[in-house]
Amino acid sequence: MVSRMTAPRVGVMSLQGDFACHRATLETLGAAPVRVALPVDLEGLDALILPGGESTTMLRLIEDTKLRDPLARFVRSKPVMGTCAGVILLGARSERLPFATLGALDVVVERNAYGRQVDSFVAEVAAAPLGRTMRGIFIRAPRLSLVASGVEVIARLTEAHGLAPAGEPVGVRVGALVGLCFHPELSGDSGLHAWFLSEVAGLSLPVPSSGTPRAASSREG
Ligand code: GLN
Repeated sequence: MVSRMTAPRVGVMSLQGDFACHRATLETLGAAPVRVALPVDLEGLDALILPGGESTTMLRLIEDTKLRDPLARFVRSKPVMGTCAGVILLGARSERLPFATLGALDVVVERNAYGRQVDSFVAEVAAAPLGRTMRGIFIRAPRLSLVASGVEVIARLTEAHGLAPAGEPVGVRVGALVGLCFHPELSGDSGLHAWFLSEVAGLSLPVPSSGTPRAASSREG
């Protein structure tokens, strides 16, 4: 663990999507969220979150803001967690996108594979790093259609959903990179954010006066 007195600076890509909820979750854990909309915003960050939203729009904005090259360097050198559209950006490839993904995680991601917006759902997810289940919120979610060997599966559906069998991978990790098909920032459960910051990124969070930052309980809504 990196020992430090100040709050770690954790970027949240804030071009489009639900970046505000990630920033709020980071604040509850004692991290200092940083809005990332331009290349300069990546400087000096300890870690980065790529939020959910619309990957086609995000990829266009990444080009427009000239974030692609700095982002590509960042994901290869620093801890990054991508949620929903974020895992599409991190993945090796996906379909019907205006630009290539960052290709940092060796997974093939099928966009909108659980159905359309009206097919969005909530399902119990077994989160291995937490040793418990949590509520997974899947909004027009991507599906991991191929997970390469060497990619660790950290989250699975506990029950079948539509064509997806029980045990289907919905979260992966390779080194300092984490990809999730669902939205942990919307579930009131900060467990995976806390794990990402402390275990994956090796950051120590300042202890708030009320006590040690804790993950919310598994069934909290
Ligand atoms: N369907 C969106 C996409 O393809 C992802 C949805 C989300 O991030 N909730 O980019």
